[in-house]
Amino acid sequence: MLIYEYKVHGNNKQYAAIDEAIRVTQFIRNKCLCLWMDTRGITKNDLQCYCAVLAKEFPFAACLNSQARQAAADRAWFAISRFYHNCQAHKPGKKGYPRFQHDNRSVEYKTTGWKLEPDGKHITFTDGCGIGRVRLIGNTGQRIEEFPTKQIKRVRLIKRADGYYVQFAVDAERRIEHVQIGLHAGIDMGLKEFLTDSDGNTVANPRHLRKAERRLKTLHRRLSRTQKKSANRKKARKALAKAYLKVQRQREDFARKTASTLISSHDLIAYENLKIANLVKNRKLAKSISDASWGRFLSWLTYYGLVHAIPVIAVEPAFTSQDCSACGTRVKKSLSVRTHICSSCGLVLDRDHNAARNILEKAYRTGGQSGTGGQPHNASGQTASTRLSKRMSSKRAG
Ligand SMILES: [Zn+2]
Repeated sequence: MLIYEYKVHGNNKQYAAIDEAIRVTQFIRNKCLCLWMDTRGITKNDLQCYCAVLAKEFPFAACLNSQARQAAADRAWFAISRFYHNCQAHKPGKKGYPRFQHDNRSVEYKTTGWKLEPDGKHITFTDGCGIGRVRLIGNTGQRIEEFPTKQIKRVRLIKRADGYYVQFAVDAERRIEHVQIGLHAGIDMGLKEFLTDSDGNTVANPRHLRKAERRLKTLHRRLSRTQKKSANRKKARKALAKAYLKVQRQREDFARKTASTLISSHDLIAYENLKIANLVKNRKLAKSISDASWGRFLSWLTYYGLVHAIPVIAVEPAFTSQDCSACGTRVKKSLSVRTHICSSCGLVLDRDHNAARNILEKAYRTGGQSGTGGQPHNASGQTASTRLSKRMSSKRAG
């Protein structure tokens, strides 16, 4: 699926209609959840049928396109099935019992209820919500109108701090012809540097949030000084939400660009499969970790790996920073020790550089963990492990 996003330009009446559609989505989702809580053994199909019941009972629900109503029911089912899954898998800690939503910000249409004009500059929503025809503003590089309409599977309207957006999900695969470079890299992600690769190159940590923090602090203070329900409070809240949105976009941009650069300049990437959720629990580290946004980076890395058809391999994190990358001796060191000094072979290397070399070596040895998406097929239909074993055998032969 490809996602194309445009900003929506309309009048206030149209924006109010979008708000209403978003509210109805939330209403249906919560109603479905209610039904599930009250009735045992409900299925996905029951929820779908319930949409029609709701539409009969509540005229405002009937205004929303029927597929959009069903998409709302699907959201409820998604929350329910995730809960079931967590219970069945005996996931430690909270199981994520589905909750009622109060802050929904989007409504999702599928293949009906809208019509994209051939110029790709306008879209009309044709259901009873009364959104009507709005203008689309996007960068000139993305041309949604070039896809056949039946390839557009979802149209989602989203409310953000700085306005309304529409996202098209297109059923098409992106492929980039990967030029073989002959370079493999293991990467170690850290707090000092965002990442260090096995050749010792580093990408510095962007401290977007830290830089923006001061401004956010001021804005928070300004908000708390205003009186409840005043016009100034509304203004201050909006300014704060916009500042957060900006940081979020900068972070996303950095994650995407870094991943793209790394993938297009290598033929194989190995990374450490860190449990980010566990790390963020550690309060002292939490801020810089979420700041560094490793999670976003890793999902872009996997994405570009698929697009370029090159292997992106996750390895188990155990001992990658302790072991010597030259001789394998385990050299115990605490987090504050920044240099690896091997007592056995005398290797002296930056801690993260040493770890990155171990990560790459580990990927060669194990072919990655299963189920981490580490083995996409490349253009010639080989998987990472077949390519790896070839490389290994040629290494041995040489
Ligand atoms: Zn050594």
